[in-house]
Amino acid sequence: MDKNKDINQLDIPFAKRTYLNNSNSILLRRIFIFSPFLILLFSILTLLFIRNIELEPFRNLNFQAEKNKGHRILGHLPYKEIPKEKLVLIEQNIEVHIDMRDSLLKMREEAKKDGIYLVFLSGYRSINLQNEIFYSLKSIRNQEAAERARVSAPPGYSEHSTGFAIDIGDATQRETDFETEFEKTDAFKWLINNAARFHFKLSFNKDNKYIDYEPWHWRYEGSIEALKVFERSNI
Ligand SMILES: [Zn+2]
Repeated sequence: MDKNKDINQLDIPFAKRTYLNNSNSILLRRIFIFSPFLILLFSILTLLFIRNIELEPFRNLNFQAEKNKGHRILGHLPYKEIPKEKLVLIEQNIEVHIDMRDSLLKMREEAKKDGIYLVFLSGYRSINLQNEIFYSLKSIRNQEAAERARVSAPPGYSEHSTGFAIDIGDATQRETDFETEFEKTDAFKWLINNAARFHFKLSFNKDNKYIDYEPWHWRYEGSIEALKVFERSNI
């Protein structure tokens, strides 16, 4: 009995060791056989992960474009308000999108070299300010919303809330500020001939079927973000 017990005590650990060794080698063999597939799977997952990260900024832009696919209100397209961190103050009371600052200032400098003095009248406007402008002016002028909308965008529908719009006047003819007569100024003539070089475009020309002609209102289309913001408007 004692002898049997001794044998069992020796046999059992030996048997266990043999089993474990076999199991390890089978496992290693399996890993070896499947390793090319595992490497392939890992590579595919890594690629998908990297692609996902690279696409992230464009997804945000697409989101903006998605928003812009909304319906017009009284002829105006909806625009999202620019995040505060992308706004820069270029002079007293004039804030613009950081993407357009250099181009805008360069344009004013170049105009000056030609003897033309551009003055910036209005840049970024918050949706709250637009709210005030739209509703207070509408009542001051005793206009209905549809009439007012021909000359001013309803809140949430102004290009000014994107930071990519700028109203420009002629420093030597301030009486034409925000007036159709601005088109007769040297500043306007200079802009028509030169603004495109600085990526600025007249937003509401004479052919616009919804909104009145605004010779003073220009928008920047010199960055991918700006182009995405105005994509719908350019269709
Ligand atoms: Zn404007």
